[in-house]
Amino acid sequence: MATYAEPEVWFLTGSQGLYGEDTLRQVADQSRQIAAQLDECPGIPVRVVWKPVLTSSADILAACRDAAVQGAVGVIAWMHTFSPAKMWISGLDALRTPLLHLHTQANVRLPWDDIDMDFMNLNQAAHGDREFGYIQTRLGVARKTVAGHVSDPRVTSRIGAWARAALGYSAMRSLRLARFGDNMRDVAVTEGDKVEAELRFGVSVNTYGVNDLVSVVDQVPGAQVDDLVKEYDDTYRSDPRLRPGGDRHDALRYAARLELGLRTFLDEGGFRAFTTNFEDLGGLRQLPGIAVQRLMADGYGFGGEGDWKTSVLVHTLKAMAVGVQGGTSFMEDYTYDLTPGHELVLGAHMLEVCPSIAGDTPSIEIHPLSIGGREDPVRLVFDAAPGPAVVLGMADLGDRFRLVANEVDVVTPPHPLRKLPVARAVWRPRPHLAGSAEAWITAGAPHHTVLSRAVGVEELHDLAEMTRTELVVIDADTEPRRFANEIRWSQAYHRLARGL
Ligand code: MN
Repeated sequence: MATYAEPEVWFLTGSQGLYGEDTLRQVADQSRQIAAQLDECPGIPVRVVWKPVLTSSADILAACRDAAVQGAVGVIAWMHTFSPAKMWISGLDALRTPLLHLHTQANVRLPWDDIDMDFMNLNQAAHGDREFGYIQTRLGVARKTVAGHVSDPRVTSRIGAWARAALGYSAMRSLRLARFGDNMRDVAVTEGDKVEAELRFGVSVNTYGVNDLVSVVDQVPGAQVDDLVKEYDDTYRSDPRLRPGGDRHDALRYAARLELGLRTFLDEGGFRAFTTNFEDLGGLRQLPGIAVQRLMADGYGFGGEGDWKTSVLVHTLKAMAVGVQGGTSFMEDYTYDLTPGHELVLGAHMLEVCPSIAGDTPSIEIHPLSIGGREDPVRLVFDAAPGPAVVLGMADLGDRFRLVANEVDVVTPPHPLRKLPVARAVWRPRPHLAGSAEAWITAGAPHHTVLSRAVGVEELHDLAEMTRTELVVIDADTEPRRFANEIRWSQAYHRLARGL
């Protein structure tokens, strides 16, 4: 198996033997150029690797199989000429990577004055891709169809969104998640079917006794704690009480030890996501605050109260957001400002909000936490940077998972939150708070979410298609009655699509 420094997608070109060597050579040249244009496009976060033109069922099947075996995260297919689609049946049936069907052609303008039958013979994607569309629909292949010339930024932007979704899909398929403790007692929406999750998303979710973590935490060498404490001091604005000689310095040292222990446990087990539960802290002296926040900033998924579904989404969206400005965090709708015409959501969690969404340098603070019954936890405190964002949640409805996304605008808090000792984000949901909340609650969507300023609805839509998971979107156009109907239709479709 080959390994690649950078994730790749393969560019597959369909044709047939009928046209002769000359035409096939031109097909190869032109498709190589298109693949190269996509490869160089900064908005497409993967390598786009051209593969030799496919003209037979056997070659198509081999290419589709090899894509997964050799680690490609997706396949882009283009029928430059006419590729009789029965040749694609076995290949598409064997394809295990996400598929994008690019409906394009080499030229932008038709050479109206010079066009002859040679040109017509070479440039047949207009109907060749329709033949390919038929067989994909006939086989029920999950895919994204993008039409237009590759010089059009709308085309490359749509391919870029799909490539990001493919990165998320790939991250999900190999994700291992460690739960420290089980679900918070009696909470419903954080529960879910871990067998179905492994089948559908590829994620492996398992629980570990929290005292397994405690023993790793307790064994962290003091010298490592010294180094991390210094890093905290260099990176954040810190409370003098937490500094060396301060009366809370020991708490900071324990917080650093907790981060190092968690990191060791996760890395040694190959885990890229985790959950905690404040009801089950075993021998831990603090509920992990800054540790969770900094691990999230490094790409680990996290969910509080045993919420593994949201933890999976945090890691997945972080994998999708690679190289993009903005951040992605675990989040919870906490409380509202219902001032008419100025309604806002204040989102936070007890401690665990990722500093990747911070607008300014976080401060490192220690405050009591009434919940959990342990020593005061150290945490990073900040306001999220303003800008458009998406909030995403996943519920297990018993027969399937449902994803719900809401487009929102994170705003600068209208007043400084001087006494609030946790990191937070303040946002205005679209279409407005009441419309968003009514739709969200009608959809049965969770109170734990992912807030991302780096990933948009198009990427989420593509990810939902790849995983064949229901996604409902709440945005500026959402209207309650139409939304309630959309949910009903969507529910009926997803139940029928499961088969008997
Ligand atoms: Mn919570």
